[in-house]
Amino acid sequence: MKNESRDASRSPRQVCAHGDRHASEEVRRIENAFFDLSRPNTAPRRILVEKLAELARTGEAFSTDDLWQGLRAVHGRIGRATVYRSIEQLVESKVLDRVELRDGSRRYRVCGGAHHHHLVCNTCHRVEEFQECLSVRTIEEIGRRHGFTVEEHTLTVYGTCSSCLKSGDK
Ligand SMILES: [Zn+2]
Ligand SMILES: [Zn+2]
Ligand SMILES: [Zn+2]
Repeated sequence: MKNESRDASRSPRQVCAHGDRHASEEVRRIENAFFDLSRPNTAPRRILVEKLAELARTGEAFSTDDLWQGLRAVHGRIGRATVYRSIEQLVESKVLDRVELRDGSRRYRVCGGAHHHHLVCNTCHRVEEFQECLSVRTIEEIGRRHGFTVEEHTLTVYGTCSSCLKSGDK
């Protein structure tokens, strides 16, 4: 049963401009992902969907513990293992992107649906997305040169974000 509006799916996606994100579309993606997992729609799950929808709106990146602490504040009995499992499932269903920080620890983020890559701030661990990419031809040429069949690629740019630069100037 799908009652997605066709107009909404036809309109161009807003990515990168956090204030402009299609929040309802994100909620639908998150809910559909859980629906596909064919699990009961329990209270912790509902709270998790709401929390992720909020994080989708702000574009904030989070660790498993960040999310767990945030959820515990609302629903004291939610277990870390449940949160951990849910995150893994949402990464599998591509609702969440997993981003590695320079120290090897992981952050998660609800990004836009279009092909994109990440900028990571080494100071505050903010994650932003950008759409620029090498052309498909270039990537395939690189693969060919090395005898690789290309399946996917990632690109992460590490540095210092504008607000950390500003506060460093003070
Ligand atoms: Zn992303
Ligand atoms: Zn920063
Ligand atoms: Zn790319």
